[in-house]
Amino acid sequence: MGLEEKLPSGVLLTTVEGVAGYFRKASFWPATFGLACCAIEMMTSGGPKYDLARFGMEVFRASPRQADLMIVAGRVSQKMAPVLRQIYDQMAEPKWVLAMGVCASSGGMFNNYAVVQGVDHVVPVDMYLPGCPPRPEMLIDAILKLHDKVQQTPLGANRLAQIRELEAEGLVA
Ligand code: SF4
Repeated sequence: MGLEEKLPSGVLLTTVEGVAGYFRKASFWPATFGLACCAIEMMTSGGPKYDLARFGMEVFRASPRQADLMIVAGRVSQKMAPVLRQIYDQMAEPKWVLAMGVCASSGGMFNNYAVVQGVDHVVPVDMYLPGCPPRPEMLIDAILKLHDKVQQTPLGANRLAQIRELEAEGLVA
């Protein structure tokens, strides 16, 4: 009897996915991308006091091609939206987006024509973090919650389906 017949259905693939998920979540590479005041808290999170490196996030990458996590830290102006989208498109799959703060999540207090009312109008968002600004502990908590999501993401799952949904809804061009 072969190995495949002895094992319960799907056990081998599940194990491989679990290992891949573990390594994915344990080696996030965030893009260096700050937009407003929330970015100060994001930078603080990477400093020695809060030490994001404890969670496998040793360096923020200056090139989107080397990053798999976009932390949208601050309000997104209409003028910045296409730039943000371009950076997102340049990041390799699989990739994740964290909307940091109430401005990135919903426009916040900037309820006007110049500010995008939530970055999910531009890119798919995996985690929303409220606060103005969220403290570094809150950002770290959101990242750890995102870790759980990444761990459960099946291999091969990509964002194209989500992007198509957004395009169908007319939320992105
Ligand atoms: Fe600034 Fe508050 Fe908006 Fe963050 S949520 S960008 S701290 S105004």
